[in-house]
Amino acid sequence: MIRRIPENQFAKVRLIPQKGLSEWLANVKTLKMILFRTAADFRSWLLKCRNQGIKTGFVPTMGALHDGHMQLIRACRSTADICICSIFINPTQFNDSRDFEKYPVTLENDIEMLEKAGSDVIFLPGVAEIYPDGEKGLEIYDLGNLENVLEGQFRPGHFQGVCQVMSRLLGIIDPDHLFMGQKDYQQCLVIKRLIHILGLPVHFHTIPTIREADGLAQSSRNRRLTPDQRKNATAISRALNEIQVNLAPGSPEPLLKNALKTLERAHFKTDYVSISKADDLQPIQIWDGKEKAVALIAAFQGDIRLIDNILLN
Ligand code: AMP
Repeated sequence: MIRRIPENQFAKVRLIPQKGLSEWLANVKTLKMILFRTAADFRSWLLKCRNQGIKTGFVPTMGALHDGHMQLIRACRSTADICICSIFINPTQFNDSRDFEKYPVTLENDIEMLEKAGSDVIFLPGVAEIYPDGEKGLEIYDLGNLENVLEGQFRPGHFQGVCQVMSRLLGIIDPDHLFMGQKDYQQCLVIKRLIHILGLPVHFHTIPTIREADGLAQSSRNRRLTPDQRKNATAISRALNEIQVNLAPGSPEPLLKNALKTLERAHFKTDYVSISKADDLQPIQIWDGKEKAVALIAAFQGDIRLIDNILLN
């Protein structure tokens, strides 16, 4: 399961020198992106940053970067003194091994995009760096009902994997600010809960979803869509918009049925369409016209699973 990244892909990136750390640090804002591959090197560099009162921002990703990720980098840069991006395709969060195998890897392009966007540091750990004792005996977190609904229901174990990698990354980096996308709405709630469980002082920022001109939420998985599937894929954001426009107090059941039809017509196989409470994702049976609500969809176009959501009020 371990994905090896050829060393020569790093040719264009400056590796952190073993000596002269303090000179590098003195110029931290004028440096081009620095790449770390081991937690130990990275932590000793971070310690020196911290000692100088430098505030760090962190954007965790799985690579195959697009403008949605860059929006997180931009937010990070405008908030923190230095912007750290990690790329790690986390095996423990894939409940479907084929999805893991087919996850796009575009490392050179990712590095170029990050460099252009002005990311200061890229952390590219291997699996052994994140899971030094292997994948057995990893912590299990109490995520309450978040683990049983929606993504939790359809991707058993997924959020435990997300928490395992995030607790390791947050433990290594200990950032002042963390940036994640609303595109993965449930993941944001899960990570806020993890931060609470771990008692971390990090500020969590939820960044709005970046979309293509036709409404499709940008996603690394979009690059696997065939031209026909890509056309069909707009049905997700259409269905979400229809829900938002037509939401009224009472039962949202007819809206859910309508959304399912919209998806079916576009050849989607739907895992769920839900109108849920925005704070805990419990399904709303009767909407009172006031409760903060979010509509969420997960559906397959061929073997590619896409998710999206919209805040309704
Ligand atoms: P991923 O690489 O898919 O794990 O995503 C890394 C981060 O980027 C997560 O916090 C995602 O929610 C966020 N993200 C992914 N797609 C988008 C998007 N279209 N707009 C904004 N953020 C996104």
